[in-house]
Amino acid sequence: MNGILKCPVCSKALDRKEREYKCPDGHSFDIAKEDYVNLLVSSKNGDLKGDDKYSARSRRDFLNRGYYSPLRDALNAVFSDKHGILLDICCGEGYYTSALGNNSGLEIYGFDISKEMVRLAAKRGGACYFVANMANIPVFDESIDYAIHLFAPFNEEEFFRILKPGGVIFTVIPGKRHLYGLKELLYDTPYENDEKFPETCVLEQISKKTITSKAILEGEDVIAELFRMTPYYFHTSEKDRDKLEGIKRLETETEFVIGEFRKPV
Ligand SMILES: [Zn+2]
Repeated sequence: MNGILKCPVCSKALDRKEREYKCPDGHSFDIAKEDYVNLLVSSKNGDLKGDDKYSARSRRDFLNRGYYSPLRDALNAVFSDKHGILLDICCGEGYYTSALGNNSGLEIYGFDISKEMVRLAAKRGGACYFVANMANIPVFDESIDYAIHLFAPFNEEEFFRILKPGGVIFTVIPGKRHLYGLKELLYDTPYENDEKFPETCVLEQISKKTITSKAILEGEDVIAELFRMTPYYFHTSEKDRDKLEGIKRLETETEFVIGEFRKPV
């Protein structure tokens, strides 16, 4: 599988060889033993942050418990009759990406800025994985039929550049009631999410679908795994964080909204 990846140094095509990707100008990028390639040219990639390994595994362990499987199943349903090249933008540890790999009509690529996340994703398989920065995605202009983009910043310009005319990106945002039960535990006055898609003037929204279900988490460690992968983890005061101590059961709604945006032909 090659053809869409370009050299992050000179922008020429990268060819997959046995142990590396190489461009005609001789820039080469080793294929790691888990079968992914690091295409970040800057060393400031954040993968040496002390908590990176821990948070990547914690996220994987939480997702493996299946609480977010309704979203995974909904994405699989969306793509069940689709053919072409799919890119997962900020694929994380590959929970959603690898599941889509069962669809033989798709040639799937996934990338993330975190090397540790990509390493775990490559272990799951189902796609060609690479480490890259969303500000400068190392794939050719107009090379992607479909992209998915879950809970990540929206880079309208780059998404527009890489999509083929008529290509589609599915963007997932948290719904109004997503994790409301967790917020009730943490905050005196919990609030609903605003459920607003990113603004875009170049991509056209053509559909919207809400996936709602209920999750019952048993065990303090499971609740902590969930908390750590939410943005609340970074925005909650220590006093509020302490409220989770000793909580052994959490019942909460999960709600995801999938927006479909098309690049005009
Ligand atoms: Zn090159």
